[in-house]
Amino acid sequence: MAEDDYYDILGVSRNATEAEIKKAYRRLAKEYHPDRNPDNESAEEKLKTINEAYEVLSDSEKRANYDRYGTADFQGINMNGFGDIFREFFGGFGGFGMGRRSRAGPPPGDNLRVTIPLTFEDAFFGTEKEIGFNRKVKCETCGGSGAKPGSSPTTCRSCGGRGQIARSMGGFMTVAQTCPTCGGRGETIDNPCPDCKGSGLESERMEVKIPVPAGVEDGMAQRIRGGGNAGPRGGPHGDLIIVFAVEPHERFVRRGLHVYLEEEIPFDIAVLGGEHEVPTMWGTSKIKVDSGTEGGTLFRMRGKGVHADDGREGDQLVRVKIGIPQKLSKSQKEYLRDFSKYFGEN
Ligand SMILES: [Zn+2]
Ligand SMILES: [Zn+2]
Repeated sequence: MAEDDYYDILGVSRNATEAEIKKAYRRLAKEYHPDRNPDNESAEEKLKTINEAYEVLSDSEKRANYDRYGTADFQGINMNGFGDIFREFFGGFGGFGMGRRSRAGPPPGDNLRVTIPLTFEDAFFGTEKEIGFNRKVKCETCGGSGAKPGSSPTTCRSCGGRGQIARSMGGFMTVAQTCPTCGGRGETIDNPCPDCKGSGLESERMEVKIPVPAGVEDGMAQRIRGGGNAGPRGGPHGDLIIVFAVEPHERFVRRGLHVYLEEEIPFDIAVLGGEHEVPTMWGTSKIKVDSGTEGGTLFRMRGKGVHADDGREGDQLVRVKIGIPQKLSKSQKEYLRDFSKYFGEN
C-alpha cells in the first residue's frame, strides 16, 4: 500500500500554516472521536493516523524532515553503548584505559586516527573488521624514562630543573624561555637507553578486531580512550579515533535506519494498478500499486531498513517514477492512439 501522505490525512495543502493544520486536526479529531464512533474500529484506526500526522506536521523540525525525506523519524542511529563495546574490548591491553587527562605529570601522547572502509552492506548489516596500526608504547627496557637501565635522568644543569631560563631583553627586562638544553623537561639523560635512544618510547604493532554494529553511517567516529600513542617520559596514552568511511550504494541511500530508493514503475501498472517488485537490502519484495498512482508517490516498506542491535527497525522508502515507454511497435502505437481518441471524446 502506498504510504498515506500526512497532508492528505489532515486534508491540508503542503504549504498550510500552523493554524490551518491545527484547525484541520481539531475538526478531524472530533469527527473520529471514539465517543462519536462507538465500536468502530476503522474510526479508531483513522484517529491514530490523524494523531500521527498531526504530531509530525505540528512540529516544525519534524515537518521539515518529513517534507524533505518523507519521514519525520530522522535522528539517526543511537550510538550510545557503542563506546562500551570498545572499552571492554581494549580493557585487556596493558596501558589502555590510561588516557584520562591528569593535571600533574607528563603530558599524554598523541591521538591516533584510523579509518575503517566499509561497504554499504557492511554498514547496513554490521560486521567485524580487523585493523592494524602502529602506536607508541612505553619502552620496556627503560620503563619510559629514556635512561639506560641502572642510570637515571639527571637534573638539567642549564635550568636547574625548572625547564625555563631567563633571557635578558634590551638590558633592563627579562623573559622566560624554554630551556634549549633539556627542551623544557627539566632533566637530561646522560646515558640514553640503547633501545629507544632516550625517547622512552617504542613502536608496537596492533592488530585488533573492531565490532561494527549494524547502522553505522559514513563519517561516524568512535573514540577509544587510551588507544593512541603513549606520552613521553611515562605520560598516559592519547586516544584512538576510529572513523567509518562507508561506500555509497549504486541505488540505495541511507539516512539513519531508513533506506531510500527511487524506483521506476511501468506506465500500465501506474494506470491500472498491480504489484511491482522492488529490490531491498533483504532481497526483492513486492509493493501494491493502486490504480492511478502518480509519479512522486512514496511507498513505505516496513522493516526493510536497518535492523539495529537494540531491536529497532528502519523502513525502506520508495519514491516512484512512472516509466514512459520509449520504443513502441506499430500496433502498440495504434492502441495508444485509440486510447487518446477515447479520452479525447470523453
Ligand atoms: Zn628505553
Ligand atoms: Zn633545562
